[in-house]
Amino acid sequence: MNGINIKRINIVNLKKPINLYFSVIIIKKINRITMETKEIITKVQIYRIEESGNEKKMLIEKAQEACGRAYAPYSNYHVGAAILLDTGEIITGNNQENAAYPSGLCAERTAFFYANSKYPNMKVKMIAVAAFHNGEFSKEVCTPCGSCRQVMSEMEEKNKEPIKILMCSKDTVYELNSVRDLLPLGFGFESMV
Ligand SMILES: [Zn+2]
Repeated sequence: MNGINIKRINIVNLKKPINLYFSVIIIKKINRITMETKEIITKVQIYRIEESGNEKKMLIEKAQEACGRAYAPYSNYHVGAAILLDTGEIITGNNQENAAYPSGLCAERTAFFYANSKYPNMKVKMIAVAAFHNGEFSKEVCTPCGSCRQVMSEMEEKNKEPIKILMCSKDTVYELNSVRDLLPLGFGFESMV
């Protein structure tokens, strides 16, 4: 039992017994906290760009094209993002750098903010991300930074359906089924209930 347990004692030496009460606080752990290990598994599908279907290949090409319009005079790392809406429309974005570095913005957020400002009730199916660096598409797959993961996570919550993510190198795609896979244990609407 938790809380205060009140016991009654009769004082027998007095002519007239009086009731004396004292309290005992009993503390028990109801929920014993035991060490627990949880495994969070992220499944990544890896394939070559030419093996992707028509829809994915087209989206990847749009992301690659968007690299060419990036404003990246400082990093010379040109990133392009292409978002496929359920209407079939594709919205692209690219990184926009600035001499005051924090004032710039990544390709993924540029694309998502633009898409959300144009279509506040949009439904997103998929996003592809690619990068161009040193005269070629990057050898390593281009993965979103932490801030972009956070924004994409919110977009997915708003979307109420998983958003597929295609992260590309010059010849390879890493595909995730949802932003949750990219940002497990993320902070969002549900964290504040
Ligand atoms: Zn970013």
